[in-house]
Amino acid sequence: MQFYALYPAAAETVMLTGMLADLHSHTTASDGSLDTGALVAIAEAASVDMLAITDHDTVAGLQAFSPEPESRCRIIPGIELSTTWRKTAIHVLGLNIDINNRALADGIERQQTARCERADVIAARLGKLGLHGTLEGATKLAGTAGISRVHFANYLVESAQVKSLQEAYGKYLGPGKPGDVKSLWASLDEVIEWIAAAGGISVLAHPAKYRLTNLKLEELARDFRAAGGQGLEVLSGKQDIALTRRLGKLANRMGLMASCGSDFHRPGQGWAELGAVRSLPADCTPVWAHW
Ligand code: AMP
Ligand code: MN
Ligand code: MN
Ligand code: MN
Repeated sequence: MQFYALYPAAAETVMLTGMLADLHSHTTASDGSLDTGALVAIAEAASVDMLAITDHDTVAGLQAFSPEPESRCRIIPGIELSTTWRKTAIHVLGLNIDINNRALADGIERQQTARCERADVIAARLGKLGLHGTLEGATKLAGTAGISRVHFANYLVESAQVKSLQEAYGKYLGPGKPGDVKSLWASLDEVIEWIAAAGGISVLAHPAKYRLTNLKLEELARDFRAAGGQGLEVLSGKQDIALTRRLGKLANRMGLMASCGSDFHRPGQGWAELGAVRSLPADCTPVWAHW
């Protein structure tokens, strides 16, 4: 099964009533294709009322950006931190954070060092499989962004060493493949502490993407709550309504608030356009309840 096969590929735009919140998106500061200004322009065009910018292990996309005072789209400063739970790589969103907080900044520096170290390991592993030039190629594509598997995947396609991104992830970089190098990240407790220090809400991102059994997901949610986690991304992209209901119930059972987001990286991505997010279940407490 492909990592993102949970999401239907059809590019249907979902019309919503009430407030449109998209609390998960990426810019060129990590592995997105648009800079912050272009991302916000698309959010405004899509009538998004509240947009969280949540780059992987960086807030650089927010640092140089000042929102237009008249904009009707409220920008929520955020981050998506990489960590592990029982050897499974998981992602924790920090929403409504103070991007200048010292503890968070120190944490980000550690994560970026881990990214660089991981890139060396990924390149060495890919080299053993006969793929060449990957560290230089991915580093160049990353530019000033934190180097990610997306840059490796793009380089493999660009250098014609694979035919498609699907092949890059399916053979080399996706879950369980040689380029999926784990355990260099800070612990779950640590990333939740940094988010709390920065005054934010920690949200367990896209819970259905970890390929956990129901029982394991329940255990993860419980451990996440016990570590101080406060929210669950009940709605990620254009997911199945039955799954949204199930995750909404899980959030309520665990005393977690509910979040929703497209996980937007680039226009035309398969799983959801910016703002193409359905409503949260009515019995959930949205993360923005106290903002
Ligand atoms: P990293 O943060 O370097 O571990 O890279 C993880 C990122 O790679 C995810 O956030 C996605 O953007 C991307 N990614 C991982 N697997 C896939 C996949 N199978 N298809 C598309 N994108 C993927
Ligand atoms: Mn990504
Ligand atoms: Mn993620
Ligand atoms: Mn993401």
